[in-house]
Amino acid sequence: MHNLSISELNQLVSIDTFNSSSLFAISIIDLSTYELVYANETMKLILADVNAKNCWKAKYDLDSPCMWCKAQELIMISNRNANQHLSNDNNSYATYEHFNEIANKWYQIQVKLSTLENGNQYLISFALDISMQKEAQSQLINSHVQLQQKTVSLEKARQQLKKLANQDPLTNLYNRRYFQDISQKLVNIAKRDGSDLTVIMLDIDKFKNINDSYGHSTGDEVIINLANLLIEKTRESDIVARFGGEEFAVLLPSTDKEGAYKTADTIREVVEKQVLKVDKNISIQYTISLGVDYYDITTDNKIDDALNRADKALYQAKNSGRNRVAINC
Ligand code: GH3
Ligand code: MG
Ligand code: MG
Repeated sequence: MHNLSISELNQLVSIDTFNSSSLFAISIIDLSTYELVYANETMKLILADVNAKNCWKAKYDLDSPCMWCKAQELIMISNRNANQHLSNDNNSYATYEHFNEIANKWYQIQVKLSTLENGNQYLISFALDISMQKEAQSQLINSHVQLQQKTVSLEKARQQLKKLANQDPLTNLYNRRYFQDISQKLVNIAKRDGSDLTVIMLDIDKFKNINDSYGHSTGDEVIINLANLLIEKTRESDIVARFGGEEFAVLLPSTDKEGAYKTADTIREVVEKQVLKVDKNISIQYTISLGVDYYDITTDNKIDDALNRADKALYQAKNSGRNRVAINC
């Protein structure tokens, strides 16, 4: 780079250069009086009062020094540098962003502390209108926030959909589809570990009579009551599902057929003994029939093989008088 001499520079850059700048608003403040001693044309356009005595009044129509003023800070640094005989070159600037309420615009401001040979200190300020950048920045932040909010609600909707796809809306139990999915996983574990896996199919006895006598919504309450009982009387590791209507299935991992039979009969007995109060005047007693079978890891393929046999057992329980557990293995 070929440097110009100071006199050449002075010829090229005069106070007229600053005066006619439309991009930078430039001002000089006498720090002994805080009077505005110079303002270029662009600065004059945004001043609150060109004739005011103090810079805070002239620039922002304030009655006391601006809270964001950097003058004292720069003076302190300059004094410290002088005491330590350090150069002031890199420390005499401060840069900040400020919203000017008079101009209703954002400015990026750079202030420089300058000292005359007689010791008088001045603050030279260059302000650049950055309102458009600020607007773009805030729009970007807004769209980012909106995008995040949309992502969160999409994720919530996705989880809700997943739940709906897996759950029976009346009882909140798993539906048949989910039961099939999870069963396959548990079948694989049973096959790998050689552990027991049993199923119970169950159905409310003469449910049509309940609907006919008390109405469909009372029938629904009976279904919900049985669903809650099934959750209560089975283990957390068991999978309870509503297959449809008043028909349910329970998958019992690590449980042999005796264990499954016991669970089935306990449930049957609890249902038989309970008196379900649906209304002030309506108390219902109902019974269920159950069929039990196990998944044979040596011959069975899908869980449906065991479910079909449990269903046959359930049919036997119905045919031999209802309110009983049948097991055909
Ligand atoms: P069984 O002892 O042989 O099982 O007799 P049942 O009357 O229970 O047998 P069936 O399967 O013929 O009747 C079931 C009835 O359940 C028929 C249907 O109207 C009713 N149902 C199916 N889904 C619902 C439901 O979500 N709510 C109510 N309230 N009733 C339902
Ligand atoms: Mg029934
Ligand atoms: Mg049925």
